[in-house]
Amino acid sequence: MSRGTIRIDVDHCKGCTLCVSACPQEVIVINSEQVNGHGYHPAQLKEEEKHCTGCGICALFCPDACISVYREPMLHPAKEVGVWHGN
Ligand code: SF4
Ligand code: SF4
Repeated sequence: MSRGTIRIDVDHCKGCTLCVSACPQEVIVINSEQVNGHGYHPAQLKEEEKHCTGCGICALFCPDACISVYREPMLHPAKEVGVWHGN
């Protein structure tokens, strides 16, 4: 299984939890200890999480295009392999 990782634009995340529910690996959580500039608790990848596959489903579900997906090998932006959803 391929591995990947994500980057979340926490400043624009609304903490809606759609990505949390959508992730088949259950590796995204809401950081209840952090509040962004809009007053929301943003999503984050679980610390030390190694089970992200880079599938891109979370990015597809995010209504605010806050998630960038990277997939091995070489952790290229997933845009190059067709699952990018974002800027
Ligand atoms: S890319 Fe896939 S496995 Fe990784 S956090 Fe997003 S939905 Fe979960
Ligand atoms: S779907 Fe997008 S806006 Fe909603 S919690 Fe996840 S990253 Fe934040």
